[in-house]
Amino acid sequence: MKQIFDLRSDTFTKPTPEMKAAMMAAEVGDDVFAEDPSINSLQEKAAEMFGMEAALFCPSGTMTNQIGLGIHLSPGDEVICHHDYHIYRYEGGGIASNSGAQAFVLQGTETGKFGMEELKNAIHLSDSHYPVSKVLSFENSTNRGGGDVWTIEEIKPLADYAKIQGLKIHLDGARLFNALVATGDEAKEYGKVFDTISICLSKGLGCPVGSLLLGTKSDIVKAHRLRKRMGGGMRQAGFLAAAGSFALDNHVSRLQVDHNMAKAIGAVLDKHVWIESIKPIKTNIAICNVKEEHQTEKMLKALENEGVLAMAFGPKSIRFVTHHDICFEGDVLTHPIFDALQKALKNCI
Ligand SMILES: *Cc1c(COP(=O)(O)O)cnc(C)c1O
Repeated sequence: MKQIFDLRSDTFTKPTPEMKAAMMAAEVGDDVFAEDPSINSLQEKAAEMFGMEAALFCPSGTMTNQIGLGIHLSPGDEVICHHDYHIYRYEGGGIASNSGAQAFVLQGTETGKFGMEELKNAIHLSDSHYPVSKVLSFENSTNRGGGDVWTIEEIKPLADYAKIQGLKIHLDGARLFNALVATGDEAKEYGKVFDTISICLSKGLGCPVGSLLLGTKSDIVKAHRLRKRMGGGMRQAGFLAAAGSFALDNHVSRLQVDHNMAKAIGAVLDKHVWIESIKPIKTNIAICNVKEEHQTEKMLKALENEGVLAMAFGPKSIRFVTHHDICFEGDVLTHPIFDALQKALKNCI
């Protein structure tokens, strides 16, 4: 049977045998009553990692983002974020439908970052013509930005400015651990800057399900209520939380392997004549742009024929995401995926 390398997303990871064993051994209880010991211990572990007061386990990163924003927003308010961010593009219009608020989107850079001038011009206060700016939201790493990373030193002045204007600071940290591994920044520094942080366990960390919202105790009490309202209260979900605790203990430092792998894949793609450009590869995402639109479909097909699955990311872009099911440890350069990749690219003529 041909080996399949699924690089469409790091959400395709499946739990390892060790993770499954940890899940099956979990002690559980009713989490709507906050009586699931495995969930309680995961929430405490994550909050403590980031130096925050409390955390809430939820089914998805969309939910932790929407609840995090929902805590800070009232109808008629505004969230400021980059136009490519997940909270604005990929959450089903949730800012409007869940909070009755809207987004003010920044043009920023191609890789999902923005600067002080743009932020200053975006903040609306007190004039009754405008929506009220209530939240500044970051994404780290940036998904559509090709996995680029903010350092905490880049974030701080922007967050400080927004805080002085009375805004709350939210982080969509679906891939925050990738950013931490790439920058060497401390998780605890994030707790000092952000009011709410969403982290995903189901991306590079390799859990089947789950995200966490981190914040103050009083914000997490509000979050608990919003989670119930959205139908996100799960009962004996400690089996899932046990996977999360296992991942926080065992799957964080190995993310460097994914980053090395993404860079090596990018280097191979970069040599091909169809490739116009590749976004700088900082973490586990490689996004390449082809020269002609028709090449996207043809390249995806040629890759698929060799067992390499990637995803179109716009008419002339293809995204490859590395994760632990591709390469758990060791030397990435001798990995069989490179043979498959070379064969596929030879057929792109
Ligand atoms: C995957 C992702 C999320 C959350 O997605 P869910 O599928 O709802 O867990 C949020 N933000 C970013 C940037 C993501 O990549």
